[in-house]
Amino acid sequence: MAKKFHNFIAGKWCEAQSGQTFENRNPANWDEVLGVFPKSGKEDVDKAVRSAQEGFKEWRKVPAPQRGQIMKRVGDLLVKHKEDIARGMTKEMGKVLMETRGDVQEGIDTAYYAAGEGRRLFGQTAPSELPSKFCVSIRQPIGVAGVITPWNFPMAIPTWKIFPALLCGNSVVFKPASDVPLTGTRLVELLLEAGVPPKAINLVHGTGSTVGIPLVEHPGVDVISFTGSSAVGRQISSISGQGLKRLSLELGGKNAQIVMDDANLDLALEGVIWGAFGTTGQRCTATSRLILQEGIYEEFVERLVERTRNLKLGDGLDSSTDVGPVINEKQRENIHSYVEVGQREGARLLCGGESANEGKLSKGFFYRPTIFVDVTPQMRIAKEEIFGPVLAVLKVKTLDEAIEVLNATPYGLSSSIYTQDVNQAFRAIEDIEAGITYINGPTIGAEAHLPFGGVKDTGNGHREGGWTVYDIFTEWKTIYVDYSGKLQKAQIDTEKERA
Ligand code: NAD
Repeated sequence: MAKKFHNFIAGKWCEAQSGQTFENRNPANWDEVLGVFPKSGKEDVDKAVRSAQEGFKEWRKVPAPQRGQIMKRVGDLLVKHKEDIARGMTKEMGKVLMETRGDVQEGIDTAYYAAGEGRRLFGQTAPSELPSKFCVSIRQPIGVAGVITPWNFPMAIPTWKIFPALLCGNSVVFKPASDVPLTGTRLVELLLEAGVPPKAINLVHGTGSTVGIPLVEHPGVDVISFTGSSAVGRQISSISGQGLKRLSLELGGKNAQIVMDDANLDLALEGVIWGAFGTTGQRCTATSRLILQEGIYEEFVERLVERTRNLKLGDGLDSSTDVGPVINEKQRENIHSYVEVGQREGARLLCGGESANEGKLSKGFFYRPTIFVDVTPQMRIAKEEIFGPVLAVLKVKTLDEAIEVLNATPYGLSSSIYTQDVNQAFRAIEDIEAGITYINGPTIGAEAHLPFGGVKDTGNGHREGGWTVYDIFTEWKTIYVDYSGKLQKAQIDTEKERA
């Protein structure tokens, strides 16, 4: 029988109040049930938020350097358990072990960064315009943070949010995606083992509609940090706007790699294979468009198709696998429906375009890496996020046209250009509309200590990662100390000065 897992609310591991559960299954082998998790509802969210409000009172008083020490211990525990967490993650969401290890490593890097930030968390000082007066601004925690995360980075993304939220002194109610409840549970177990007070971290499993929405609506939640699709981001934005809540949104992408005629083609080829088909194309930063300058177009496409056809599909735990399954049947259907859209729009399919069902693959949700050529910027497959192993190739004449095509989507997360010409590279940096631009690297591969996020429909102006995320989870307080012993009025001219 499958192992039963729980929510963590008010300092206790507990079932959903309804008693209902859902199964967590392996997308590479749908017969394998990895665990049974609580199918929670509004009442569980309410209890978790009240617990977090209690936890906040205690946690905010712990000095930030001590909170940092706890983050350091979380990092150490993630190091210790890296391999078993990575294996569990591959089983619950499919990506290959090398990548799930990387996902945990990102959590480790984020923990150690947060540990250091405990001794910084800098405020600002400024001189006063009046004599004998001292001014300083400090960061304070906000309160209860609601954290809602997607399934494609089951450890990294929750840590990007939860570690800085806690380091700043907030308490947390965490709702992981229901496709990856196991990794979310492991993370909370380690936070508790490291010494986070039980009421400061709460875990509620369940769906977006039954747990996500009540969490966003709850008046006791002060800040929401969400990563997921732009459609859900819009919905969350309108609900939290009513409550005047602080909201950080990290949303979808439709990232492109440009390859110019002068590029190192071997490098550009490695880059696009990794960017487009790593994580089975299910990354917010996945390369979903390839923009080729006409001089290298024919040769590059030929080599790309050959390499793509040779990618091996399989279980992510098998070391010979290049590309794992997609997350579930619904997502596979969605990917295939985009392939049909592309064909109807007149794009030409060069490889893939179908599910892979031979042998053991029939047990899971596999889709062949897919390449379309003759794609125009107006086509839906060139503009909309597909979130699967589908690459749309576009041909351009000049750098200006390449940048114009790259910018012609509603999204603006990651981008890349391969060129040996420094002038072209800097033009691209200046004119590409994206939060991230790589020169001679693929669109994927963000580092934990640098700002991460995008422009346009990819977000609402915040940046996770590095130091910028600490702005999301702190409130500024400005303090004036007047030691002149008299009433000094800022901006008001004194009688003496006017005379
Ligand atoms: P999703 O939007 O369907 O779900 C994300 C999370 O929100 C899940 O926990 C889900 O249960 C919850 N949710 C769903 N509907 C909700 C609602 N109405 N109210 C509150 N919560 C709700 O996204 P997904 O399928 O899990 O992930 C894929 C998407 O995430 C893609 O669009 C991808 O680009 C995006 N993503 C963005 C980033 C980034 O940093 N910009 C990173 C990873 C993934």
